[in-house]
Order: sequence, then C-alpha cells, then structure tokens
Amino acid sequence: DSQDYDREVESVCPFCGVGCQVSLKVKDDRIVYVDGIDGPANEGRLCVKGRFGFDYVHHPHRLTKPLIRRDDAPAKGLNVDPANPLSHFREASWEEALDAAAGGLARLRETRGGAAVAGFGSAKCTNEEAYLFQKLIRQGFGHNNVDHCTRLCHASSVAALMENVGSGAVTATFNQIEHADVAIIIGANPVENHPVAATYFKQFAKRGGKLIVMDPRGVGLRKFASHMLQFRPGADVSLLNAIMHVIVDEGLYDEQYIQAYTENWEAEKAHLAGFAPEDMAGICGIDAEVIRDVARTFATAERGMIFWGMGVSQHIHGTDNSRCLISLALMCGHVGRPGTGLHPLRGQNNVQGASDAGLIPMFLPDYQPVGDDGVRSAFAEIWGGAEFSAEKGLTVTEIMDAVHDDRIAGMYILGENPAMSDPDVDHARAALAKLEHLVVQDIFLTETANYADVILPASAFAEKTGTVTNTNRQVQMGRPALPPPGEAREDWAITVDLARRLGLDWSYSHPSEVFDEMARTMKSLANITWERLEGEAVTYPSLSPDDPGQPIVFGDGFPRAGGRAKFTPAAVIPPDETPDAEYPMILTTGRQLEHWHTGSMTRRSKVLDAVEPEANCSLHPSTLRKLGVAAGEMVRLTTRRGSIELMAREDRAVAPDMVFVPFAYVEAAANVLTNPAIDPYGKIPEFKFAAVRIEKG
Ligand code: SF4
Repeated sequence: DSQDYDREVESVCPFCGVGCQVSLKVKDDRIVYVDGIDGPANEGRLCVKGRFGFDYVHHPHRLTKPLIRRDDAPAKGLNVDPANPLSHFREASWEEALDAAAGGLARLRETRGGAAVAGFGSAKCTNEEAYLFQKLIRQGFGHNNVDHCTRLCHASSVAALMENVGSGAVTATFNQIEHADVAIIIGANPVENHPVAATYFKQFAKRGGKLIVMDPRGVGLRKFASHMLQFRPGADVSLLNAIMHVIVDEGLYDEQYIQAYTENWEAEKAHLAGFAPEDMAGICGIDAEVIRDVARTFATAERGMIFWGMGVSQHIHGTDNSRCLISLALMCGHVGRPGTGLHPLRGQNNVQGASDAGLIPMFLPDYQPVGDDGVRSAFAEIWGGAEFSAEKGLTVTEIMDAVHDDRIAGMYILGENPAMSDPDVDHARAALAKLEHLVVQDIFLTETANYADVILPASAFAEKTGTVTNTNRQVQMGRPALPPPGEAREDWAITVDLARRLGLDWSYSHPSEVFDEMARTMKSLANITWERLEGEAVTYPSLSPDDPGQPIVFGDGFPRAGGRAKFTPAAVIPPDETPDAEYPMILTTGRQLEHWHTGSMTRRSKVLDAVEPEANCSLHPSTLRKLGVAAGEMVRLTTRRGSIELMAREDRAVAPDMVFVPFAYVEAAANVLTNPAIDPYGKIPEFKFAAVRIEKG
C-alpha cells in the first residue's frame, strides 16, 4: 500500500551471490518493508533474508562515531566487557580517527617497510570500494598483501577455472538451467544458501529436468532430485573420476567437441582408467550401478549444467574437485551452448565483483597477473607512477601466520570478520591481538573490531551508491535509500581519506569516477558504463553499448592459448586429518537459511534471529541415541584446535558419523574447531572436513 511508505528505492539484496533486485520501501528514513523486483537473476523473487533481513541497518548497535582504543583499555580480546562493549574505546572526531588510522599504518611503513601492513577487503562492499581498497594497499604500501573472503570460499574453484578454462567466472548464468536437460548440483545446498536460485532448480526438476544432487549431506534439493548421491565426505575426486571413467569406458564422450576445443585429453583418459566405479564404490559409499547411471544420464543428455558450492571448494583437494567438474563438462561438450555450462555458485553478494576488481594477492583487476611487468607498468601509469612489487602477496590465512611470525604488524580490515571466519579461529584472534596497529572499518562492533586500535564507522548497503556483480556476472547498481546513521560514512569515501593521509594523490569525488577508472583497466567492463548501469543491469561481457550482455560464454573456444580448454587429471588426496580413536567423527561446517556468515547482520535482524536464535549442530538420530542425548540438549564438540558446546538437533540428512555446524554463532564458533590446512593451489582451508569428538554437554 503506497500509504505505508513515502519513497521506494531500487537496489540489490546484500546477502548472497544470487543478486536479487529489491525495492526498499522507506518511511521517515526507515526501511519499512522490502519487495522483490524484476532483476535478471530473481524476476521478482526473494528469500527470507532478502525479504525480512533488512532491519539490521537500523539496529541500535550500529557504529555512529569514529572510535579510538583507550590508552587504559585492557588487553585486546573478544568481548572485553559484553555488558558495555564499547567501554574500551573512546569517541573521536573523523579528523582525529583518520589521522590515528593512517598515522599508525604510515609509521609501520616507515619503520618496518610497506610489507609489514596487510589489507583485508570486503566482498560485501561495492566494486568501486573493492577496487580502491586493493589500489590503496598496492600503491600505498608497494606490495600485494591484500585479499578478501574469496580465499575462504571459491578460491580453489577460481584456480581450477583459470588454469583450465582461462577465466574465473561462470560460463553460464544459473537461469540457463531453464534450457537444460540435466543438471548436477554438487557440494552445494542452494535451498538454504542460494534460495532464489534454488527456485529455478526446483522448477527445472518439476518440468522433467534430471537433477543429480551429490553431497555428503542429504541437502534440501534431494526432494526434487532424479538421483541423490550422498557420498562419503572427502570422496569427491574418487566419485567424479569414476563417473568420468564410465563416460570413457562406454564411449559416451563428445569426440568432436574434445578435438575442436580441448587439450590434454589423452592424459585425462589414461588417468581415468584407474577409477572403475566397481573399485570406487566402497570409497564413495555409492553403488557402481548408480555411478554408471549418473554418467550415462549426464553424458547422453543434449544439454547439461554443473553447479557447485563450498562442499567442493573448501577442501585441501578443492582445486582437484573443480578440475574434475571442468573435465566432466568438457568431455561431454556441455559448455558454451544454451542450457550448458559450469557455474560455481558464489557466496557473498559481491564476491565476484571484488575478485574481478583485483582484491586478491596474485592478480590485479581482471585477473591480470601481478608478476607481469607490462601489466604492472600499465597500472602504474594509470595510478600516477606508482611502483609496487611483482611478487604475489599473502592470502587471508597466510597473513595471520605472518602476524605470528612478526612479518606483518599492521592491518586495515574493511567489512570482514576474520575473528569469526578464519579456520582455527583462536589462531586468527591471537594474531589480531598481536597486531601493533589495526584499523577496522565496519557497521558494527564485530568480533574483529573488538581488537581494533581505530574503528571507522561505515555504511550499510542501503546507505551507499555503487555497483555489485553477482554469481551470474551481472553488474547491478546499488542505490542509497537512507543516510548513514550518525557520523557514519560511505566506505569508498573513508578509504579515499585514508589514502590521502598516506600521501596518495587521490581526488575521487564520486564512485562513478572510480568506476570509470576501473573500466579503463578492465576489458571485462567493455561497453559497460556507469550511465548504463543507472538504467539497467548488464551481464559481462557486453559486446556493444546496447548489448545487455552474454549469459553464455565460450561457445567458440576459450581465452587460453590456442583457444582450447584443458583437461587436468586429478589424483585422490585424502583429507588433511582423518578420524581416529580420539576424534572418531567428521565435522563439517556451513550456513543455514536464516543466518549469513558470521551473523553480524542476520543476528541483528529481528525476524531472522527469532527463527534461529541459538547455536546448534545437526546429528543423525542414531548418533544422538549412541550419545544418550535427546534433540534440544547440549553436546560438546572437540577437535585438535578446541571445544565448543551447543544444542544438538536431529537430522536424518546428516550421515551417522558426521556433525554439521553452522558458523554464525560467536558463543559456539564453529571455526574454533576447523582445520587450517590449505589447498596448495587455491590456498583455501579445509572447512568441510575435520576429525571431531562428540560428547554429551
Ligand atoms: Fe538475497 Fe540471496 Fe535471498 Fe536473493 S536469494 S533474496 S540475493 S539472500
């Protein structure tokens, strides 16, 4: 009813990578409700987070003034005084806080060298903010120690895609499933994590599409699946190689496609000979006949797609998992046509855009390698002669190790929460406490901000202008519906002020100027202008100023030498730690529908917090029986890193030797337990597998 609000503003949901367009209904500078509108990814649909998860922007915990740690504050740590959480900070003017923030970082630059300062940027901020953040670290400190949460998310998928396809983004939008005959969804739980995308997957199944779901948990889409393969945790490579073995063995591959568009096929074929499904069945916990049926269903379909999530990527063999999925699509010729493609479902709303903008330690914007002299000098020229290192920088978890080793002493963290999101989180918290100078820019006093020396109050999605890029490569405009509360400011403007104090000659006065600079350095943004984005979403690549963009890419070759994609055989690597007598069960972690990542937004959203107010874990009924625990009672989980206590739930979808723990709850933080061992290529931690002991709480 138009009487309920006095204005409406079109923007983009701030939660997941689906990138649903929303209309924010505002009355008296408060969002009163949210509707879905006809964006390219959501066509009017929203999930519970998009519809009801907006009120965190009005929460009384919002930071409204710059803060500086008191001289007499106690030692840095979590929840210094939970009853009075800001007690160890004092309010400051912006001038004083920016001087203190930049002054501390500049001092380290002078005394210890630029490499003593690292940056952790945000996949929740806009493309322009991500671009400025990486530029600040590179230009201001002369190195590449800048990363963001892609490292904990799809870094291994991107490593495999870059290696074998030549591009880190999806080859087809998820909406292409409309044209598919078969789709594999592996290591993903879209019903909870990409709920609007899941509605397209369900519709696909309802109209007769074959949905092959593979996951160690019986995830929500199983009810719509033609095949549900609940395989043994960590057995992904064995299972995928077995499927591909059948395709080779039964001659189901697309010889013509392979000859025209790929390389290294003979090596892949030879490698797969050792993975007969009859030999892999015991390892995967899936019957050989089922494996054969899945292989035939996928390979003989005219059009097939593959979707994957963190269940694939968050392993020490995450890159190998993705290599297998790429090989599977290539050998069937399921790339580059309507209803075909490879699609890693991106997590954060702007993780695609932040990665494209160069917020990663090995690549400049558009994945241009930092080691390439020509690339670096092109950026140096645009950036006014800046010199920065050719050496790849440190990743998120390596930065924390470097703090412990005294190589890094200062950090600038924008909108990320490593005190909750890093694996073996006590290690990360100890590193944050050890930093000589920590600047945190955020909208709440996050667990990470607790460790800060200076806190800069920033803007929520509904308070800023800027573009974001979703999992579909769709670049969309976020628009401000409200002013930031109190003295809080837009993130790009704070970063610009810090840069000036660090001696950089920056003169941006609007995010559109940043976008223009990005477009000059990024071929992916060809034909995409700020003005266009003010009127429409554009899917990159866009081939002309009036092309809305290409939902499918690589129909005629790949952006690799010779235009060919590559098969990279993947050997089986066991998880870093396996269950034993002391830690006999398997821990896996993830999200649940109502809560977003570390909970800083959704736990401050009334409806979402009311639905899921308490830390919980899911166990099979037989496991609960063995433990003598009833659903709703407490259990204690212990790994080699630490222990947490939380409420147990009964869930038949979890295998009897597994426990699933959502990671949004600080009072029982799942990452106290997780294993920091990393994939050697994508440097992504093994969040999806650790040996754990479970006891009655
Ligand atoms: Fe927001 Fe994702 Fe839900 Fe869409 S599916 S409303 S982008 S959380």
